[in-house]
Amino acid sequence: MTWSTLILGGGPAGLAAACFCAQPALVIERLAAPGRKLLATGGGRCNLTHATDAAGIMAAFGRQGRFMSDALAAFPPDAIRAFFSSLGVATRADPDGCVFPVSQRAEEVCRALEQAARNAGTELRCGLRAQRLLLAPDTDGSVTRRVTGVETARGVLHARHVILAAGGQSYPALGSDGSGFALARDAGLEVTPPLPALAGLFTRETWPGSLAGLVLEHAALRLDAPGSPKTWLEGPVLFTHKGVSGPPALDLSGAINARLHAARAQAGTDVTVRLASRAGWTAADWRARFADWRLHHGGRALHNLLAGELPRALAATLCTLAGTANLAAARAPKSALEALADACAGQPLQITGTESWTRAMVTRGGVSLHELDPRTLACRRRPGLFCAGEVVDLDGRCGGFNLTWALASGRLAGLATGA
Ligand SMILES: Cc1cc2nc3c(=O)[nH]c(=O)nc-3n(C[C@H](O)[C@H](O)[C@H](O)COP(=O)(O)OP(=O)(O)OC[C@H]3O[C@@H](n4cnc5c(N)ncnc54)[C@H](O)[C@@H]3O)c2cc1C
Repeated sequence: MTWSTLILGGGPAGLAAACFCAQPALVIERLAAPGRKLLATGGGRCNLTHATDAAGIMAAFGRQGRFMSDALAAFPPDAIRAFFSSLGVATRADPDGCVFPVSQRAEEVCRALEQAARNAGTELRCGLRAQRLLLAPDTDGSVTRRVTGVETARGVLHARHVILAAGGQSYPALGSDGSGFALARDAGLEVTPPLPALAGLFTRETWPGSLAGLVLEHAALRLDAPGSPKTWLEGPVLFTHKGVSGPPALDLSGAINARLHAARAQAGTDVTVRLASRAGWTAADWRARFADWRLHHGGRALHNLLAGELPRALAATLCTLAGTANLAAARAPKSALEALADACAGQPLQITGTESWTRAMVTRGGVSLHELDPRTLACRRRPGLFCAGEVVDLDGRCGGFNLTWALASGRLAGLATGA
């Protein structure tokens, strides 16, 4: 038989496509069940979207975010929440804007999406891997060749429309192992080289490792590299055995990996980030605080005074780094106080790399945006083929943004098969 729609991958993008696509439709999923990664999202609670509008979602994807405007116009966060509500999944937004199911169970989201796909008439076949896209014979030497189906280990499946929703390359144990990129490349599509993103950062300095386990709640990080935005990303920073993690570190990791990748191709240099121990406090703010200490608490050791502002272990480390360890506030030379103010306001960290595919939450890179029509997510040079979700060259910040794209793009590609 020829399926009207064949969907490769049963993650959130594939399942959302399955709810809206032309029937008869089939999802093939290489794992034993759909939505394995979805079940792991938000620590099992599933941060499925963010309480913002379409513009707020696009902003979380950087310069490439504009590409998403058609997908989000009809399926912004409010519509996503209304869709899940219609499936019986109530949601609520945390004060930071992250939206979760009220049940706090990713399983509820996953099952509802799978059931909605089945209710729409879509069949799901698990344990079946897409191995190669089938292209119509190249008879006239044209640059456009129609995609007509897919080859699997259990034979060939023919379809009028194929939606590639096989995800990225991160957390391969949860299903997406980069085979979506291989399928796209094999079919002649340009794929931006994939890199791990939303991953913890490794530092050349060893002192963060000595603070492993410590969370600095109101901290901020920024990239300190030529041409990078000077914006501080605020949020909790977690010290790990190999460096730093937490939302600001994760959010910087994709850009850092891209720079490291480019730098290694040339000279091989680290990337510097700055750590502000208290978000919003400049070196001048810290200097003013130290001046006050000199006046009113001059006999007390700086590291003890700083421990009133920051976790004690970090206060001691910053004082050591600034050369003010054990100095009383009144006896510290001006240059040492300057150094301590700089360390508190923006201690440099040399980043040597990030966690790898096994721990990165998303993939930077994927099917190049210029291969796709943003109005339908159809491939310009491969009629019959559509791409949705993380297989596309888009990656967003932590906070429900990546699932928003998966759901909105899956829906748009699905609808386009019936147009
Ligand atoms: C631990 C973790 C936590 C996360 N938490 C959040 C969060 O709270 N909020 C958020 O917005 N984002 C989160 N993300 C990111 C989010 O999960 C992904 O961006 C999203 O799942 C992408 O959806 P997708 O459908 O495109 O791909 P996937 O969810 O990866 O689904 C792709 C599916 O395709 C299947 N597949 C792959 N290759 C083939 C093939 N050749 N043939 C057949 N099937 C194939 C895979 O098995 C998989 O089931 C998290 C990611 C991780 C790893």
